[in-house]
Amino acid sequence: MSTTSPTIPKETARHVLWMFDRQGGYRPGSCTEYLMRAIQSADVLHAAKLRQVFPELSAAIDLARYDDNGLAKLQAIATGQAPLGCKCGNTAGPFDLQGRCETCTEAAA
Ligand SMILES: [Zn+2]
Repeated sequence: MSTTSPTIPKETARHVLWMFDRQGGYRPGSCTEYLMRAIQSADVLHAAKLRQVFPELSAAIDLARYDDNGLAKLQAIATGQAPLGCKCGNTAGPFDLQGRCETCTEAAA
Protein backbone atom coordinates (compact mmCIF):
# COMPACT_ATOMS: atom_id res chain seq x y z
CA MET A 1 0.00 0.00 0.00
CA SER A 2 1.28 3.42 -0.89
CA THR A 3 1.86 5.82 1.98
CA THR A 4 0.78 8.79 -0.10
CA SER A 5 -2.81 9.59 -0.80
CA PRO A 6 -4.41 11.83 -3.37
CA THR A 7 -5.80 15.22 -2.54
CA ILE A 8 -9.36 14.68 -1.38
CA PRO A 9 -11.94 16.85 -3.18
CA LYS A 10 -14.38 18.86 -1.09
CA GLU A 11 -17.31 16.90 -2.51
CA THR A 12 -15.75 13.58 -1.56
CA ALA A 13 -15.07 14.78 1.98
CA ARG A 14 -18.74 15.73 2.33
CA HIS A 15 -19.90 12.34 1.09
CA VAL A 16 -17.71 10.45 3.54
CA LEU A 17 -18.79 12.76 6.39
CA TRP A 18 -22.37 11.87 5.54
CA MET A 19 -21.59 8.16 5.74
CA PHE A 20 -20.06 8.69 9.18
CA ASP A 21 -23.03 10.82 10.23
CA ARG A 22 -20.99 13.96 10.79
CA GLN A 23 -21.74 17.63 10.43
CA GLY A 24 -20.92 19.00 7.01
CA GLY A 25 -21.79 15.82 5.20
CA TYR A 26 -24.39 15.29 2.57
CA ARG A 27 -25.71 12.23 0.87
CA PRO A 28 -24.17 11.39 -2.51
CA GLY A 29 -25.95 9.72 -5.39
CA SER A 30 -26.73 6.06 -4.96
CA CYS A 31 -23.73 4.93 -7.04
CA THR A 32 -21.25 6.77 -4.79
CA GLU A 33 -23.11 5.53 -1.74
CA TYR A 34 -22.75 1.92 -2.87
CA LEU A 35 -19.12 2.49 -3.77
CA MET A 36 -18.39 3.82 -0.30
CA ARG A 37 -20.08 0.80 1.26
CA ALA A 38 -18.14 -1.51 -1.06
CA ILE A 39 -14.84 0.14 -0.09
CA GLN A 40 -15.69 -0.13 3.60
CA SER A 41 -16.65 -3.77 3.44
CA ALA A 42 -13.96 -4.90 1.01
CA ASP A 43 -11.28 -7.39 1.95
CA VAL A 44 -7.65 -6.43 1.35
CA LEU A 45 -7.56 -7.59 -2.26
CA HIS A 46 -10.78 -5.90 -3.27
CA ALA A 47 -9.89 -2.77 -1.32
CA ALA A 48 -6.64 -2.53 -3.30
CA LYS A 49 -8.51 -2.91 -6.59
CA LEU A 50 -11.08 -0.29 -5.61
CA ARG A 51 -8.30 2.06 -4.47
CA GLN A 52 -6.77 2.03 -7.95
CA VAL A 53 -10.02 3.13 -9.55
CA PHE A 54 -11.34 5.38 -6.75
CA PRO A 55 -8.22 6.79 -5.03
CA GLU A 56 -9.83 9.93 -3.56
CA LEU A 57 -12.83 8.10 -2.14
CA SER A 58 -10.62 5.36 -0.71
CA ALA A 59 -8.28 7.93 0.86
CA ALA A 60 -11.19 9.84 2.41
CA ILE A 61 -12.65 6.65 3.88
CA ASP A 62 -9.20 5.68 5.22
CA LEU A 63 -8.99 9.07 6.91
CA ALA A 64 -12.37 8.59 8.55
CA ARG A 65 -11.65 5.05 9.70
CA TYR A 66 -7.98 5.01 10.65
CA ASP A 67 -6.90 8.56 11.46
CA ASP A 68 -7.75 9.82 14.96
CA ASN A 69 -8.32 13.29 13.53
CA GLY A 70 -9.59 12.08 10.20
CA LEU A 71 -13.17 13.27 10.56
CA ALA A 72 -11.96 16.71 11.64
CA LYS A 73 -9.66 16.81 8.61
CA LEU A 74 -12.54 15.85 6.34
CA GLN A 75 -14.67 18.59 7.91
CA ALA A 76 -11.88 21.10 7.25
CA ILE A 77 -11.74 20.00 3.62
CA ALA A 78 -15.54 20.03 3.30
CA THR A 79 -15.80 23.58 4.62
CA GLY A 80 -12.93 24.84 2.50
CA GLN A 81 -10.81 25.69 5.55
CA ALA A 82 -8.14 23.43 4.29
CA PRO A 83 -6.87 21.35 1.78
CA LEU A 84 -4.71 19.30 4.03
CA GLY A 85 -1.47 21.05 4.80
CA CYS A 86 1.86 19.61 5.80
CA LYS A 87 3.62 21.13 8.78
CA CYS A 88 6.42 22.20 6.41
CA GLY A 89 3.93 24.57 4.79
CA ASN A 90 3.19 22.56 1.66
CA THR A 91 -0.50 22.73 0.84
CA ALA A 92 -0.33 21.30 -2.68
CA GLY A 93 -0.42 17.64 -1.68
CA PRO A 94 -0.77 14.80 -2.05
CA PHE A 95 -0.51 13.97 1.65
CA ASP A 96 -0.24 10.74 3.55
CA LEU A 97 -2.59 9.83 6.40
CA GLN A 98 -0.39 11.75 8.85
CA GLY A 99 -0.81 14.88 6.75
CA ARG A 100 2.77 14.85 5.48
CA CYS A 101 3.59 15.97 1.95
CA GLU A 102 5.48 13.69 -0.43
CA THR A 103 8.79 15.43 0.29
CA CYS A 104 8.45 14.99 4.04
CA THR A 105 7.21 11.42 3.63
CA GLU A 106 10.27 10.58 1.55
CA ALA A 107 12.58 12.34 4.00
CA ALA A 108 11.11 10.30 6.87
CA ALA A 109 11.45 7.00 5.02
ZN1 LIG B 1 6.07 18.59 4.10
